[in-house]
Amino acid sequence: MNKTKAYSASSATSPLALDAIQRRDPTERDVQIEILYCGICHSDLHTVRNEWNSVMPTTYPCVPGHEIVGRVTKVGHDVTGFKPGDLVGVGCLVDSDPSCPHCQANVEQFCPDATFTYNSPDKHLGGVTYGGYSESIVVDEKFVLRVPTNLELAGVAPLLCAGITTYSPMRRWGAIKGKKVGVVGLGGLGHMGVKFARAFGAHVVVFTTSPGKKEDALRLGAHEVIISTNAEEMQKHAGSFDYILDTIAADHDINAYIHMLGLDGNITLVGAPEKPLAVSAFALLFGRKSLSGSLIGGIEETQEMLDFCGEHHITADVEVIPIQKINEAYERLVKSDVKYRFSIDMASLKAE
Ligand SMILES: [Zn+2]
Ligand SMILES: [Zn+2]
Repeated sequence: MNKTKAYSASSATSPLALDAIQRRDPTERDVQIEILYCGICHSDLHTVRNEWNSVMPTTYPCVPGHEIVGRVTKVGHDVTGFKPGDLVGVGCLVDSDPSCPHCQANVEQFCPDATFTYNSPDKHLGGVTYGGYSESIVVDEKFVLRVPTNLELAGVAPLLCAGITTYSPMRRWGAIKGKKVGVVGLGGLGHMGVKFARAFGAHVVVFTTSPGKKEDALRLGAHEVIISTNAEEMQKHAGSFDYILDTIAADHDINAYIHMLGLDGNITLVGAPEKPLAVSAFALLFGRKSLSGSLIGGIEETQEMLDFCGEHHITADVEVIPIQKINEAYERLVKSDVKYRFSIDMASLKAE
């Protein structure tokens, strides 16, 4: 076993603080990774504060982080895809039962026996898994991703969750050239959605409540921006969208966006508002529209997304912070005060 420095929370109300955790010695199939950057996802904050208690209660101490980029330091004897020195990524999953139908179909995220990167039962050491707010991690080769070498690493980290979360549904529902695609909300997820939709060749329209975000939305790749509180502007675009990606994690009027869809249009939820959304059946019926959900992506698709980002020079817009600023970053995250993702420079943890 290897002792490694990490930042953990000891209860739902305690701040994250320096801790020491154990990582397993790499087995034949494992890759040991020195973590260079870890993005801060909203899920980290929800888990640390036990806000998803009813669905996934948090076990403490909790070490979050599932947007991991690092360098391979050691590989097990049977590892064929990686060698020391390789740049790699780890997202939300670190293990699964490969015999289940979902894993057979390359959607490991739906495996009933999936092991998530943190706060998930640890099959090797007992207790729960510990995530990327740490110096190193040991992961089964199957769940390690190759990172293109031409991208800036701090901005690659968020691709492992925010990136695949937006890439996967837009690929699935055909956000391609000739389609009018809406992105609701311009945060960590939304700004990635805009970059991907633009790179796929779609006509991209951002819905935001903040007129101040208009310029930035255009800079990120949007062709048009609609201020969703402006009824007149909304009405002008009613019934004209092929697809909408809804990234809002707070309560909002979903019917207003269903109204924007044309015949057979689809709107996908990737955010998770705490309370159920009120959906008007009539809004769906007229126009044969559908409402769908999506959850990250499988390993194969995550690799495809990273390769696509390498080819198209896509990374997340990040604010790099030392890990010592983590609690302050959480406070700012609650207020959406970041453009558009925090990325922790792990050299700061080494130095501590
Ligand atoms: Zn996440
Ligand atoms: Zn499975």
